[in-house]
Amino acid sequence: VATDDILALNNVEVIFNDVILVLRGMSMAARRGQITALLGANGAGKSTTLKAISGLLHTEDGEVTRGTIHYDGVDVTRTSPDRKVKNGLFLVMEGRGIVQDMTITENLRLGAFTRPGADVKHDIEEVYEYFPRLRERKGLAGYLSGGEQQMLAIGRAMMAKPKLILMDEPSMGLSPLLVKEVFGIIRRLNKELGLSILLVEQNANMALKAADYGYIMENGKIVLDGTGEALSENEDVKEFYLGGG
Ligand code: ATP
Repeated sequence: VATDDILALNNVEVIFNDVILVLRGMSMAARRGQITALLGANGAGKSTTLKAISGLLHTEDGEVTRGTIHYDGVDVTRTSPDRKVKNGLFLVMEGRGIVQDMTITENLRLGAFTRPGADVKHDIEEVYEYFPRLRERKGLAGYLSGGEQQMLAIGRAMMAKPKLILMDEPSMGLSPLLVKEVFGIIRRLNKELGLSILLVEQNANMALKAADYGYIMENGKIVLDGTGEALSENEDVKEFYLGGG
């Protein structure tokens, strides 16, 4: 495992309920301090990859049956999700982790639970600098729009002071304007805080623009990889993932 890889998957195989083979020799890496994009059609196995990395597979009776996952130089293939969160590996998933009947501030506080003694006030202020919209909303998280909930989910992850954030379709359900805003923030988090980010997206266009490096996944494994720029110019990628032209 190269030292500048914060994450490396090597020939990972995932099976659900002892029968369905969903990942079949999945290998990829994410570089420290970079944005990496993982793209692919519906059902290619992108979400399963994130669950394998974060350790949440067992919640759906899935398991890694072959291969290895290294995070920050350590084999974490069978490490518990809690342990990984404590070590700075954080998954942001649509609808996950936000407590609907708590306020925004209370949700952000929860995000810092792995860091007893942290200057939570200061850190919440930092989140609000990135997401000024959240500062203005006073009510319960459940009343936030889809875009605002997405922002809160990212803000909550920031409170854990992660080294690597895994994001499952941050653009899902957002208006084009909000997608731009959220991607702008993702880039800032990467540039200003040095956060490593692994982004899973259907919106290949935005993802490849933001990403330093990208992978294309089909049928449970990587079929193509390259810099964000190279992939945007690849004819197959254009045809199948960037809507023709
Ligand atoms: P999408 O963008 O539609 O979420 P994806 O690339 O994220 O697609 P996955 O959700 O990882 O794909 O699913 C990959 C394959 O694994 C699909 O064929 C799906 O039906 C199957 N699968 C996913 N979760 C389970 C599960 N819990 N049990 C059985 N099969 C599953």
